[in-house]
Order: sequence, then C-alpha cells, then structure tokens
Amino acid sequence: CKLNGRNHTLFFSETMEEDYNENLILDADIRKALHNNEFELYYQPQINVITGEVIGLEALIRWVHPKKGPVSPAKFIPLAEESGVITQIGEWVIREACHQHQTWVKQGYRPIRIAVNVSAIELQRTDFAEKVKKILSETKMDPHFLEIEITENSVMQNTEECILTMNCLRRMGISLSIDDFGTGYSSFGYLKQFPINYLKIDQSFVRSALKEQSSAAIVKAMIQLAHNFGLRVVAEGVEDEDVLTLLKAEHCDFYQGYYYSKPVKAIDIENRILKAY
Ligand code: C2E
Ligand code: CA
Ligand code: CA
Ligand code: CA
Repeated sequence: CKLNGRNHTLFFSETMEEDYNENLILDADIRKALHNNEFELYYQPQINVITGEVIGLEALIRWVHPKKGPVSPAKFIPLAEESGVITQIGEWVIREACHQHQTWVKQGYRPIRIAVNVSAIELQRTDFAEKVKKILSETKMDPHFLEIEITENSVMQNTEECILTMNCLRRMGISLSIDDFGTGYSSFGYLKQFPINYLKIDQSFVRSALKEQSSAAIVKAMIQLAHNFGLRVVAEGVEDEDVLTLLKAEHCDFYQGYYYSKPVKAIDIENRILKAY
C-alpha cells in the first residue's frame, strides 16, 4: 500500500482507497470553501411548546460545493474534525452567527437567541473561550443571546477541562446546551456536573415516541430528570402534531423540527419570523 506501508496492504481495499481519495479531495475543498466563502448558515426556529412563540434559532452550516453540489454537514464535519480544519470552520460559524445577530439588531429587530454547534475538537482547545470572547467583542454581540451546543460525547472526553471551559463560557453570559442527549455514553449522574442550561433530546427518541413505547418512556424520563436538575428541555426532530401533543402532555419546554420549519436562510427568518417577533 502506497500510503501506510506494506503491513496495511491487506486491509486497504479498493473502496477504502476511493474513500480515502474522496476525503483528501474534500479536505482540500473545505479549505478552499472557507477562503471562497462557500459556506452559509441556515437557521431553524426553536418554539415554546405552550405559547407557540419562537424563542431562538439553531444555526446549521450549509455548503454547496462548486462541482459536487450540496454536501451534508453530517459528511464534511467529521472529515473536518479528522483533519483539524474544523477549528477554522467553527470560528467562521461563530463569527457569522454573531455577525448575523448584530445585523438584525441594527435593522431594528428584537434580539433573538442563536445557538451554534461546537465540536469536541474545538471545545477541547485551551484557547476556545478566549476566541469566542474575541469574536463577541469584534462583532459587539451581547453574549446573552449566544448559545453553544455541545454533544454529550464531546464533554465525556477530557471532562474536567471541558467543565473549566464551560464555566468560563457561562461566566461570559453564554448559555450552554447538551446536544443529541441520550445517544452518548454519559450517565444521568454526569449531568449535574455540567454547567448547562438546556438539554436537547435526540431526534431518534422524539421521532419514534409515538411508535415505540420505550422511546416515549425515555422522552418522558429525560424531561423529568432535566427538570429535576433545573434544566430546560428542547425536543428535536418534531415532524408532526401528534408528537407535539405528547411533548405538551409531558411538559417539554421547547421543540424544533420540520413540523414548524426546516432550517432556512437568514432572509427567510427575517421575513417569516423576525417581522412578527
Ligand atoms: P444536529 O446538531 O443534531 O442538528 C439537527 C439536524 O437535524 C440538522 O441536520 C437538521 O436539519 C435536522 N432536522 C431538524 N429538524 C428535523 C426534523 O424534524 N426531521 C429530520 N429528519 N431532521 C431534522 P443538518 O443540518 O444536516 O446537520 C447535521 C449535523 O451536522 C448536526 O446535527 C450537527 O451535528 C452537524 N452540524 C451542522 N452544522 C454544524 C456546525 O455549524 N458546526 C458543527 N460542528 N456541526 C454542525
Ligand atoms: Ca445541534
Ligand atoms: Ca441534535
Ligand atoms: Ca446529531
């Protein structure tokens, strides 16, 4: 095998070689994309279950590759994490979200909370909080309107350092949420160690809550547990009214999902949400 030396030849199948080549191309393309401004943030509204009010937005990255067309973040974010370029993507995401927030404020809209996704690799950098602080001061964004979503698994690696960083972010006024809750390795016991505000129940449980009793039971237990810890709960992946009814009955605080809206461009948020907000 040309890449890793002889010993690996046996394990290096053709499809792996294709994958490897494709990944190499993508990594170079990601760097180009940053340089050429090919990324865009879409925003998905988060809704208060009781009042139906929009209470925040989750920023989700989109990339239209000049030749391949749209590439899913589920595909390129893991590659970017492997190569390390996620640090630059992450910085771009936070700056772009803060910048968009300030643009809306300047246009006279009532400020709305924006949540950004941060990967484990970014969170574990010792200069992460410092970088966020710099971006906030550059963009003059009020930190109280910024939320950072961290997946359950990422806080489970280097837990102590992550908690230090999280405390630092909280002191700055930023809110924190645990994303994809229920899919990871952490136990409920860990929850109280984390200085977090919100728990986001993973879509896999929410989407099957009506079909599988076990999922409904898990959703219910997570909501109760989060409330016992003083956390508020966001259910992800709400696609129909029946699920929303179930969430209402279980006193879930907020929801997100196609039922209300897919992630949309900033201009659509402006026209559909902010003008009425
Ligand atoms: P996530 O953070 O769990 O984001 C939720 C995903 O579910 C989004 O997919 C969203 O479009 C989708 N979704 C929302 N509501 C529904 C629904 O009702 N039904 C269904 N089927 N899907 C729904 P998306 O945008 O493709 O993002 C996939 C993942 O990529 C995200 O999962 C997140 O882990 C990652 N990602 C996206 N943007 C960023 C980013 O800016 N930075 C980092 N580090 N990761 C990101
Ligand atoms: Ca998320
Ligand atoms: Ca999620
Ligand atoms: Ca996810």
